[in-house]
This record gives sequence, structure tokens and C-alpha cells, in this order.
Amino acid sequence: MTDLFEFSDDREASSAAKVRALEALLIEKGVIGSDSVDAVLKHFETMAGPFNGAKIVAHAWVDPAYKQRLVEDTPKAIAELSLPLGMAGAEGEHMAAVANDADTHNLIICTLCSCYPWPVLGLPPYWYKDPVFRARGVREPRAVLQEFGVTVPEAKSVKVWDSSAQIRWFVIPERPANTDGLSEEALAALVTPESMMGVALVAPPAA
Ligand code: FE
Repeated sequence: MTDLFEFSDDREASSAAKVRALEALLIEKGVIGSDSVDAVLKHFETMAGPFNGAKIVAHAWVDPAYKQRLVEDTPKAIAELSLPLGMAGAEGEHMAAVANDADTHNLIICTLCSCYPWPVLGLPPYWYKDPVFRARGVREPRAVLQEFGVTVPEAKSVKVWDSSAQIRWFVIPERPANTDGLSEEALAALVTPESMMGVALVAPPAA
């Protein structure tokens, strides 16, 4: 999907160089400590990330009553699970889940900027912030989904949810076929961040 939008080939390297320069300057000026950035990175590796969303989705798949509660009152249902602290913290104040089903496919965007449910999905990918993605996501969601490799049948409706500082949406994707015997942990391993944004389906386990 990285070739969908126009970004320079060296964007990762050039961003990393800018970040290193900025970090060095902030440390030199005494604004942050030498371990501040590492602490933030560790937070997104262990506390806030798509691994939390995947656990929530897998639990919703195995427990229909939980799924219902998750859709009706997302923060309350998330609080039932044993997840890292901070589920209601920064960028997670007002999260809301919507479930894909046989009739509806849901797509999450932020038309204004890049609002995203950090505690359950981590930090948004760069293309989520792309003005073209944000504009086309509302104008022609089916075409955008097609470019991501998701063909939504005409009979199925597409709902686009615009995240904001008030509500940050995420998708409960459909459980793939042939997963009846899988443990909740194995199910969680199938759930990708893209599937929880609505730009991908969850693939069945490799045979
Ligand atoms: Fe935003």
C-alpha cells in the first residue's frame, strides 16, 4: 500500500535523520533527558499498540455478549479486560468500536488531521495522515478500499467513520472462516492494525 500515495523513497531515512537531529538538540538544551525518547518508544512497544486492539477483537469474536457490550459502551467493555494501564489515557479518552458484518463494512479515517485510538492501535501510519487518503476516504470509499485490496460487494454498505478529538473509532473486523478451533490468543495473532482501521480484512490462518 506504500505506493498508493506520493512519498519520497527515502522518507524513512530522512525522517529518522530529522528526528535524531531534533532529539540531540533537545537533549543539549536540557529540554528532555537522554532516555526520554527511549521511554516513549518503549511505551508504544509494550503499553499502547495494536496488540491491545487485537486482544479486544479476539475476545469479541469468542464472546458475542462481550462484542455487544463493546459496541454499546466501548471504554467500559475495554476496562473489563486485563490490558496495560492507559486505555483511557492520551488519545484514548473517547474510543468507540464499530463491527463489520455481512451487511456493513466500516472504514475509519480522520478528515481533519489524524485522530486515532492510540491505546488500542498505537500510532497511526503515515498514509493515514495523507490529505489524499483523508479526502478520498469520504468521497469514494469503495474505490479507496479496492486500492487497498478490499472489494466490498455492492450489496454491502460502506460506512465511513470520521475520528476526532471527541470520538476515536476502531473496527471489529469479521472473524475469518476456519478458525473455530483456535484459541483466543491464536485469533488475536490474526488481527492486523489495518483490519481494525477497515482497510483490510482478517485473513484466515495459513493452511
Ligand atoms: Fe485528527
